[in-house]
Amino acid sequence: MVHIKGHVPERTCIACKQKKPKRELVRVIYNPQGEVEIDLDGKKSGRGAYLCRNRPCWEFALNRDKKDHLAQALRTRIAPENRASLQEHIDNLPRDDREGVNEPKSIK
Ligand SMILES: [Zn+2]
Repeated sequence: MVHIKGHVPERTCIACKQKKPKRELVRVIYNPQGEVEIDLDGKKSGRGAYLCRNRPCWEFALNRDKKDHLAQALRTRIAPENRASLQEHIDNLPRDDREGVNEPKSIK
Protein backbone atom coordinates (compact mmCIF):
# COMPACT_ATOMS: atom_id res chain seq x y z
CA MET A 1 0.00 0.00 0.00
CA VAL A 2 1.23 3.41 -0.91
CA HIS A 3 0.31 6.13 1.50
CA ILE A 4 0.29 9.62 0.16
CA LYS A 5 1.06 12.13 2.84
CA GLY A 6 -0.79 15.35 2.94
CA HIS A 7 -4.42 16.23 3.24
CA VAL A 8 -6.57 13.15 3.62
CA PRO A 9 -10.17 13.84 4.53
CA GLU A 10 -10.95 11.96 7.70
CA ARG A 11 -14.24 11.00 9.24
CA THR A 12 -15.13 9.39 12.52
CA CYS A 13 -16.96 6.09 12.70
CA ILE A 14 -20.06 6.61 14.83
CA ALA A 15 -19.66 3.18 16.40
CA CYS A 16 -16.01 2.78 17.39
CA LYS A 17 -15.21 6.53 17.22
CA GLN A 18 -12.02 5.92 15.28
CA LYS A 19 -10.90 8.46 12.77
CA LYS A 20 -10.26 7.02 9.36
CA PRO A 21 -9.73 8.24 5.82
CA LYS A 22 -13.13 8.89 4.31
CA ARG A 23 -12.71 6.23 1.63
CA GLU A 24 -12.28 3.53 4.25
CA LEU A 25 -15.63 4.29 5.74
CA VAL A 26 -19.15 3.76 4.49
CA ARG A 27 -21.41 6.77 4.40
CA VAL A 28 -25.01 6.40 5.48
CA ILE A 29 -27.29 9.30 4.75
CA TYR A 30 -30.67 10.62 5.67
CA ASN A 31 -31.82 11.95 2.34
CA PRO A 32 -34.26 14.78 1.56
CA GLN A 33 -36.95 12.16 0.93
CA GLY A 34 -36.67 11.13 4.55
CA GLU A 35 -35.05 7.81 3.84
CA VAL A 36 -31.94 6.39 5.43
CA GLU A 37 -29.71 4.76 2.84
CA ILE A 38 -26.15 3.70 2.22
CA ASP A 39 -24.24 6.07 0.00
CA LEU A 40 -21.49 4.01 -1.55
CA ASP A 41 -20.20 6.74 -3.85
CA GLY A 42 -20.31 9.44 -1.21
CA LYS A 43 -22.03 11.70 -3.67
CA LYS A 44 -25.61 11.76 -2.50
CA SER A 45 -26.93 14.72 -0.63
CA GLY A 46 -28.24 14.47 2.85
CA ARG A 47 -27.12 14.35 6.43
CA GLY A 48 -24.43 11.74 6.71
CA ALA A 49 -22.90 9.42 9.25
CA TYR A 50 -19.89 7.19 8.75
CA LEU A 51 -19.26 3.60 9.70
CA CYS A 52 -16.31 1.24 9.26
CA ARG A 53 -16.61 -1.56 6.77
CA ASN A 54 -16.98 -4.18 9.40
CA ARG A 55 -19.79 -6.02 11.00
CA PRO A 56 -19.24 -5.13 14.68
CA CYS A 57 -19.51 -1.41 13.99
CA TRP A 58 -22.71 -1.83 11.99
CA GLU A 59 -24.28 -4.11 14.53
CA PHE A 60 -23.40 -1.65 17.24
CA ALA A 61 -24.84 1.25 15.25
CA LEU A 62 -28.11 -0.53 14.60
CA ASN A 63 -28.54 -2.21 17.93
CA ARG A 64 -32.20 -1.69 18.50
CA ASP A 65 -32.23 -3.19 21.98
CA LYS A 66 -30.06 -0.53 23.49
CA LYS A 67 -29.41 2.72 21.72
CA ASP A 68 -29.94 3.30 18.05
CA HIS A 69 -26.66 5.06 17.44
CA LEU A 70 -27.15 5.44 13.72
CA ALA A 71 -30.55 7.06 14.10
CA GLN A 72 -29.10 9.30 16.77
CA ALA A 73 -26.18 10.34 14.59
CA LEU A 74 -28.56 11.15 11.76
CA ARG A 75 -30.99 12.79 14.17
CA THR A 76 -33.90 10.87 12.79
CA ARG A 77 -35.78 7.62 13.07
CA ILE A 78 -35.03 4.82 10.67
CA ALA A 79 -38.06 3.43 8.85
CA PRO A 80 -38.44 -0.36 9.07
CA GLU A 81 -37.87 -0.82 5.32
CA ASN A 82 -34.70 1.29 5.46
CA ARG A 83 -33.53 -0.67 8.45
CA ALA A 84 -34.14 -3.89 6.54
CA SER A 85 -31.86 -2.80 3.71
CA LEU A 86 -29.20 -1.74 6.19
CA GLN A 87 -29.49 -5.13 7.83
CA GLU A 88 -29.04 -6.69 4.40
CA HIS A 89 -25.81 -4.73 4.03
CA ILE A 90 -24.64 -6.01 7.41
CA ASP A 91 -25.37 -9.57 6.37
CA ASN A 92 -23.01 -9.12 3.43
CA LEU A 93 -20.16 -7.88 5.58
CA PRO A 94 -17.39 -10.29 6.51
CA ARG A 95 -17.95 -11.70 9.95
CA ASP A 96 -14.31 -12.06 10.92
CA ASP A 97 -13.01 -8.75 9.66
CA ARG A 98 -11.64 -7.21 12.82
CA GLU A 99 -10.21 -4.24 10.96
CA GLY A 100 -11.27 -1.05 12.62
CA VAL A 101 -12.54 -2.62 15.79
CA ASN A 102 -11.48 -0.52 18.70
CA GLU A 103 -8.59 -2.55 20.00
CA PRO A 104 -4.81 -2.37 19.70
CA LYS A 105 -3.29 -3.70 16.53
CA SER A 106 0.13 -3.68 15.01
CA ILE A 107 0.99 -1.13 12.39
CA LYS A 108 1.95 -2.65 9.08
ZN1 LIG B 1 -16.02 1.67 13.44
